[in-house]
Amino acid sequence: MLRLRTGNRELIKDLNRNLVLNLIKNRGPISRTQIAKEARLSLATVSGVTATLLKNGLIQPVGQGESSGGRKPVLLRLDPHAGYVVGLKVTEHRLICALTDLDANVVHRSTFPFDAAPGVKAALDSTAQAIRAVVAESGIGLDKVIGVGIGLSGVIDGEAGICRYSAILGWRDVKISEPLEKRLKLPVYVDNDVNTLTIAEQWFGYGREHDHFLVVTIGRGIGMGMVVNGQFYRGAFGGAGEFGHTTMGEDGPLCDCGKRGCLEAWAADPAVVRMAVEAIQRGESPGLARLLGEGGDGLTLDLVVSAAEGGDRTAREILARSGYRLGVGIANLVSIFNPQLVIVGGEGVRAGEFGLGPMREAIRQHAFNGLAQGLEIIIEPSGDDAWARGAASLVLGEVFKSPIYRGEQISLLAS
Ligand SMILES: [Zn+2]
Repeated sequence: MLRLRTGNRELIKDLNRNLVLNLIKNRGPISRTQIAKEARLSLATVSGVTATLLKNGLIQPVGQGESSGGRKPVLLRLDPHAGYVVGLKVTEHRLICALTDLDANVVHRSTFPFDAAPGVKAALDSTAQAIRAVVAESGIGLDKVIGVGIGLSGVIDGEAGICRYSAILGWRDVKISEPLEKRLKLPVYVDNDVNTLTIAEQWFGYGREHDHFLVVTIGRGIGMGMVVNGQFYRGAFGGAGEFGHTTMGEDGPLCDCGKRGCLEAWAADPAVVRMAVEAIQRGESPGLARLLGEGGDGLTLDLVVSAAEGGDRTAREILARSGYRLGVGIANLVSIFNPQLVIVGGEGVRAGEFGLGPMREAIRQHAFNGLAQGLEIIIEPSGDDAWARGAASLVLGEVFKSPIYRGEQISLLAS
């Protein structure tokens, strides 16, 4: 929901401040004159805004730039240590917890065991404990922490701070932000984990240069986040981006969601493993069978990849087929959204070129005429740091996003 402000003058002041802050973040160290030129604002307006930002400690002077005659201008940059944020990714058995600075650099990271089985209250208690622990371990005072961002897989209503549905935790309509805010006395933002990665790319990664891009993750499932016209897109109920459950052949393999033929039932890591086990059982893959014994028990994606690296043709074919399917799916997205950039991440990209080569080929073959030509595809493996930074970016994005879309909770923005 958009929060409309009363008073145009306040809003214009906020918009100017946002413009200046983002220029300093993305282009700093930068002089006031350069900011005025790029933002098309008067030097007096820029000086007023930077005075407030300096007073709040969000930016700092760093040396002097080249003079074009007269005094050398002072250069300004974001002070990454003006505040810190906790980012937390919830997985089935672990909490990956990181403290980052305002530039999304991970200052300290820890993982904690996690179990949702004893119930929601116990799960939230251990989450709050993990957040306090990572802050204490970092040696940075809790008073320097401006908020907490949480990413988890499932359908998350970020606006309300509620997990609508999470398959891995077995949660339906569980309040997350409010009970944690009570425990921690800090603003707590929550979103789908792939959305958090997308927001991190938007503010701190490759997405800074693009207004139209998609993030596709492959791992246990297949997820997607999208930025359209420079805005992160959530859909009507926060459920947009369930790319893994788009149907590719309605009589295909059974998916975890109960339907048949979902993309992830063809192409995610468990699907690759399932196809490899079936190949072993049919006696088609001596390379895989040697690694595993006849039944195929204990097979993992890593073993399939090492069989492929060892020259096993069946393993290579399976990885190529699943990569190609993923590429067909991405080609459909390219035809719908016409993005400038697709970032492919997640644990599954460690299958490497065996899958990624065919994926690129499928995008070229199947995207609508011309749409794949200028398309940039970036492969970015997402480890623990990336997920935790992503979660932190939920809060950091609030600092840098336009006031028209922002909530009011972040204390650093008080003028
Ligand atoms: Zn499905």
